[in-house]
Amino acid sequence: MSETTKPSLLGLEPDALPAPEGQPYRRRQLADWVYLHGASSFAAMSNLPASWRTELETGYSLIPFTRSERFRSHDASVRYLFTLADGRQTEAVYMPYSGRKTLCLSSMVGCPAGCAFCATGALGFGRNLSRAEIVGQLLAVAVGEGFSPREVRNVVLMGMGEALLNYDNALGAVRTMIHPQGLEMSPRRITLSTVGLPGRIRKLAAEKLPLVLAVSLHAPDEETRRHIIPTAHAHSLDDIIASLHDWQNAGGRRVTIEYTMLDGVNDALWQAEGLVERLSGLVAHVNLIPFNPWGEARFRSSSRVTIERFEKVLVRAGVSVSVRFSRGRDTGGACGQLALTRG
Ligand code: SF4
Repeated sequence: MSETTKPSLLGLEPDALPAPEGQPYRRRQLADWVYLHGASSFAAMSNLPASWRTELETGYSLIPFTRSERFRSHDASVRYLFTLADGRQTEAVYMPYSGRKTLCLSSMVGCPAGCAFCATGALGFGRNLSRAEIVGQLLAVAVGEGFSPREVRNVVLMGMGEALLNYDNALGAVRTMIHPQGLEMSPRRITLSTVGLPGRIRKLAAEKLPLVLAVSLHAPDEETRRHIIPTAHAHSLDDIIASLHDWQNAGGRRVTIEYTMLDGVNDALWQAEGLVERLSGLVAHVNLIPFNPWGEARFRSSSRVTIERFEKVLVRAGVSVSVRFSRGRDTGGACGQLALTRG
């Protein structure tokens, strides 16, 4: 089997990793090489029998990328562009802030949601990433930055793609992240981002995992929202909000509402008031995100004054809110921009 057709070990549940007959303890040793040491070859796994290492080498691969490129930003974030076995590309971002290692990972090549302000949306949909390709981003970044994959404490699945449309692989990757023999992360530190798919939100609620759910609302009224997210007509705002109530009624945690501030599009005071109304009865935190301009974007960010005025309406109504500046502006900062500019 060639290197690119061999299945990656990262696609397996950590407690389903292979082990030689009669030596189940080798499975944990192998898991430690992969998820604790971030080994990039089977040859490096020095406490495993040489014959078994050869066997593993013949049947499996590890990180499933043919190339990783690293772009450092002035604000200390680092963007990675990965080339997959079929030549397509996807991205991840490492954000080393406040002493925490946070990674933003992709769930797809491109994205079918087509949000009008997003560079990934402009790429269109390429394909879903496999479980191994999602977990592989985390491992490749840890190896690239020189720390153990198990040191990563925060993951946001907010890079390229709509994670809930790649449900099984995204959830599979989350299971590797929280597995005690995998990356040992707390599910409370994993954020799954969605454009708002009520059916999938309800399905996720039934998993009973205390993940953070982030919903890209971007507007409180259908007309503006459909202008920003052309595919949004498939689900009404009423149904999306109802699914968030279902999420919380099923024990789900506080919901994060993502709201990208677009000049003259969704930043009027009546829209702030509309957002307050939409969120009534929900335990939610709103992130107001000044738009991060990129090459062909046809939007501009709302001004600081407008954002502060919008924020005040939410604060006065008792809505929890913060203003988030996106990172990595000087390295192709908008999600998907690296892949877009590199072809
Ligand atoms: S903002 Fe997210 S959901 Fe929308 S097109 Fe970009 S990657 Fe897809």
